[in-house]
Amino acid sequence: MKRSIFTVKKSSMKSWNEIFRNQRPVKVKSFKTGTVIINRRGTINPNHSKIHDLEDKELEVPIMAHWIHHEDFGDYLIDAGLDASYFKDPRGNVRGILAGFLADEFHQDENQNIAFHLQKNQVKLKGVFLSHLHSDHMAGIRELPKNIPYVVGKGEKYFEYKPFLYGNYLKGINLHEIDFSTVEPIRPLGLSVDLLGDGSLWAVSTPGHTRGHMSFVVNGFEGPVFLTTDACFIREGLELGVASSDYTWNVKMAQNSLDKILEFLKEHPEVKVVCGHEDPNAD
Ligand SMILES: [Zn+2]
Repeated sequence: MKRSIFTVKKSSMKSWNEIFRNQRPVKVKSFKTGTVIINRRGTINPNHSKIHDLEDKELEVPIMAHWIHHEDFGDYLIDAGLDASYFKDPRGNVRGILAGFLADEFHQDENQNIAFHLQKNQVKLKGVFLSHLHSDHMAGIRELPKNIPYVVGKGEKYFEYKPFLYGNYLKGINLHEIDFSTVEPIRPLGLSVDLLGDGSLWAVSTPGHTRGHMSFVVNGFEGPVFLTTDACFIREGLELGVASSDYTWNVKMAQNSLDKILEFLKEHPEVKVVCGHEDPNAD
């Protein structure tokens, strides 16, 4: 894996109102690539002042990837979901001395892997934007083309613990890092980058779950869509207004990022929101 800097195109847009008045020919379609078991107490921080009594239970949640189709600029992915290795192996081909101790927490049906969805929809990928580098968001890279840019937030860490535990998720790719410090914030979300340069697709810096975590705004003719990714795992977290504590690098920053998202959604009720582990196609 090589690292380089993502070239940020400076936008003249100063507000989300202005951005949403300039809708672009872009669409989003979400793919379910499997499921994972997570814990409710942790997915929703049980120590938040708004939480009094949160029952502990295991939740099976979908693992999503989002196809962005732009009429002029082509096809992109937001997150890669899971590759086909999870159909036969609930640990998704993770290797190493410690792999046998991992919980069997993943599940995948046949033909749910990311490459299957892309082929079925005749998607010709030009790049992949990764919300963060956790296995349920990047394992699918193993079956994606290697000669396209993969983009993360600057400072996002990637761990492989050879020889103990490793998945070779990023082997052979070029990782481009977005430096959010080079752009003006757009309130209330803050630092946001115009990824394709025409206002169609935005990466928003939402650190907390991980250091370089990003959420996304899709500004299409069908109305704006906000993909929280793991700034908010599930709908219940959004409704309660409480971010995660488990699996999370900095709980305070994660809550701060969610608070900004909630303010944004209040100011822009026209925005459709999709949480990180929520399938917008499910009823
Ligand atoms: Zn996740």
